[in-house]
Amino acid sequence: MRIARRAREINPSPTLAIDARAKELVASGVKVFNFSAGEPDFDTPPHIKEAAVAALERGMTKYTPVGGTPELRKAICRKLKDENGLDYQPEQIVVSAGAKHSLYNAMQVLLEPGDEVILPLPYWVSYLEQIKLAGAVPILVQTRPENGFKLTAEELLSAVTRRTRMVIINSPGNPTGAVYTREELQSLGEVIEKNNLIVISDEIYEKLVYDGCQHVSIASLSSDLKERTVVINGVSKAYAMTGWRIGYAAAPVAVAKAMVDFQSHTTSNPTSIAQAASVAALCGSQEPLQQMVGEFRRRRDYMWERLNAMPGISCLKPQGAFYLFPSVAALIGRSYKGQPIRGSGDLARILLEEAQVAVVPGVAFGDDRYLRLSYATSMEDIVEGLDRMEEVLRQVQ
Ligand SMILES: *Cc1c(COP(=O)(O)O)cnc(C)c1O
Repeated sequence: MRIARRAREINPSPTLAIDARAKELVASGVKVFNFSAGEPDFDTPPHIKEAAVAALERGMTKYTPVGGTPELRKAICRKLKDENGLDYQPEQIVVSAGAKHSLYNAMQVLLEPGDEVILPLPYWVSYLEQIKLAGAVPILVQTRPENGFKLTAEELLSAVTRRTRMVIINSPGNPTGAVYTREELQSLGEVIEKNNLIVISDEIYEKLVYDGCQHVSIASLSSDLKERTVVINGVSKAYAMTGWRIGYAAAPVAVAKAMVDFQSHTTSNPTSIAQAASVAALCGSQEPLQQMVGEFRRRRDYMWERLNAMPGISCLKPQGAFYLFPSVAALIGRSYKGQPIRGSGDLARILLEEAQVAVVPGVAFGDDRYLRLSYATSMEDIVEGLDRMEEVLRQVQ
């Protein structure tokens, strides 16, 4: 059977590919030090699981409204108001099967073929594919380490054309961990308003910020920006609930309605039980989250120091998410035991095969001079994995 063009043009997720190879090694009995994870290594907190069990027991096993249960949509409205200063009504909230699904729905209902979407580089891979799946054109804008990998107003403006429709902002960001300040978002907001752009603001890592850093939603900066923005968030990262598949969008009424209509013919509602669990996540104790953030910070600090002490590596200290994004530019063009390091892919392969250390090559995020290391893994594995990585890098010639 011939595969349709839109499917043929999809690049398989390179982050999942590395993860798969690492899992293959694990299955064959090899101990792998896995820095490629895109999800918290913690278990979902018990009170959230209990809410799911209770929902099952009271027979919450039927379809729910497509855009989510009234309880969950209300809980999300309350969260957005209390934590982000954003006023939304329940009909402006659309709950989907994960933030990734919310992003997909948003692009499907907002983008026309040929629309240009500004995507800061390095980017999270799914944005690129989802833009293409909507028939739109990704316009990649290289951000710079000098600016903490954050898109500046000048860079944004210089990428705007007559066809620009949307800009994607992901703060705290994957893969760099960059967190935009209020002022930085304000400058971007001016360019966005003047050029009549719309924004997708992916805030999935909002809870994972360090050093007293504050997450700000660009939608909260003015009522005009709120009208131009679709806020995307979910429970996956903050509550260690990646497998439950609950994400949501908050949007102007017409956009939310279009997203519900779109979803009504694809997945219908996200899982009823997972929705009940998500109410408990948002409304229940935030103590497990605080503990997780404390542990992430400790790991980040350790890993950042170790990486910067390795030959050929330099790494900014990110303020959010659970990734480090070190430059390995100084290692490219060199070799390890006769194996050439032509780019980040070669280096990632060498680290996995020679040291059983799994990292994601920067090329997966559009920049071949970097690696992404996740610290969503145990401190024990971080210590030994970094020892092994250092050993390999010392032998690069
Ligand atoms: C993990 C991740 C998501 C997807 O989260 P789900 O709710 O599990 O679909 C969205 N955006 C970014 C940047 C992510 O890293």
